[in-house]
Amino acid sequence: MTAVDVLVVGAGLAGLHTATGLARQGHDVVLVDRRAALDGAIRTTGIFVAKTLADFDLPEDCLGPPIHRVVLYPPGLRGPVTLDSPREEFRVGDMGPLYLAAARDAVDAGVLLALGTRYDGWDDGTATLVGPGGTSRVRARFLVGADGARSRVAADLGLDRNRLLLAGAEEVYPVPRHDRPPTFHCVLDPTVAPGYLAWVVDDGEHAHVGVAGHADRFPRGMRAALQEFAATAPGLADVPRPDDVEKRGGPIPVGGLLRRIAGPAGLLVGDAAGAVSPLTAGGLDPCLRQAALAVEVLDRALRTSSREVLAGYDGAALPERFRGRLLLRRGLSAVRSPALVSAGFPLLRTPPGRAVARAVLFGDRSFPDRVSGGRGAGEPARRPAGPARRPG
Ligand SMILES: Cc1cc2nc3c(=O)[nH]c(=O)nc-3n(C[C@H](O)[C@H](O)[C@H](O)COP(=O)(O)OP(=O)(O)OC[C@H]3O[C@@H](n4cnc5c(N)ncnc54)[C@H](O)[C@@H]3O)c2cc1C
Repeated sequence: MTAVDVLVVGAGLAGLHTATGLARQGHDVVLVDRRAALDGAIRTTGIFVAKTLADFDLPEDCLGPPIHRVVLYPPGLRGPVTLDSPREEFRVGDMGPLYLAAARDAVDAGVLLALGTRYDGWDDGTATLVGPGGTSRVRARFLVGADGARSRVAADLGLDRNRLLLAGAEEVYPVPRHDRPPTFHCVLDPTVAPGYLAWVVDDGEHAHVGVAGHADRFPRGMRAALQEFAATAPGLADVPRPDDVEKRGGPIPVGGLLRRIAGPAGLLVGDAAGAVSPLTAGGLDPCLRQAALAVEVLDRALRTSSREVLAGYDGAALPERFRGRLLLRRGLSAVRSPALVSAGFPLLRTPPGRAVARAVLFGDRSFPDRVSGGRGAGEPARRPAGPARRPG
């Protein structure tokens, strides 16, 4: 049986960054993911917001062109509202290569990465893993659940679990070169995207066409809603849709950061911890910020051999500002009638309405910088120094 300092389950952005950060501090880390390849079965559009681009060191060649423009549409798509920003608000990650680059960083830092390997349970400090070579057991001082919205690790550690989930699906395809400004189109229509929104992102390289909402409220199911939306999606009038498009999708936890996200045996990061902005449903920035905090807490726990340290990693210390977003999310979820959205939409054309929309979309508040009583989780994660060590 292998013995390690930390077993991280899930090699999404949260798990990759947590594992790398810990290995860079000199700890023995094993990172497992049930996916055989990290550039397959992608579950995100990959929109990174300005705050993330400023604070984190993402590989430039894995980021699409900057987007300065958002266009908001009512049901029926007539009379949209255009919001332009002088700064680079968004860039879409080329997520396959971006995950692969993060995996290379992890391995270079000394992480033992096991793909095609499913975590299958935890018993008193020992995890069961099922991989290409069969079943194996790994003893770990700490277990990290970076295993997404429906975290098995959360259940095994007796921690909180996500209850409020949206479902999202999109298709992605390359677009021929054009001279329109890169744009993020958002459609507010509860029949197409009940409780959230439908989107087209065309950054001049790829088109992402997607819908998200409450899974049980799509009138003909989410896939049908995506198909219908794709047929009339705004901003793509001259863009040919190839027959073979990449399909992405998955659950999005929008109930806010969970309260009990750590126990004596380990902790949760990313979607597993509910670390997603309830209003924008953006989870990539929170992944990176929370991973930095998780590294700090686990590093201290490993160095001091104290499990108490993990008690400081909790989701209860949520800033009031974030609570406001939860209320807005509830409001958005409650709107079921397209007529109501159409009636309220003219408000977005007024200066106060535009100001609110700008604050939500361009406001640098996708997630609180401080997600626990500890130091700011928003500390930039730019290649922290520290000894790198490859486990046994
Ligand atoms: C359609 C869609 C579009 C989105 N678009 C955006 C966006 O544009 N911008 C943004 O900020 N956020 C977006 N989000 C949210 C964002 O993608 C997530 O919040 C973020 O990717 C979560 O990362 P994670 O590492 O926590 O989890 P994940 O990326 O889900 O990674 C979890 C990993 O754990 C693995 N795993 C699960 N169980 C096991 C197990 N038992 N054993 C081994 N491995 C396991 C999975 O294979 C997976 O690789 C979107 C979400 C969806 C669904």
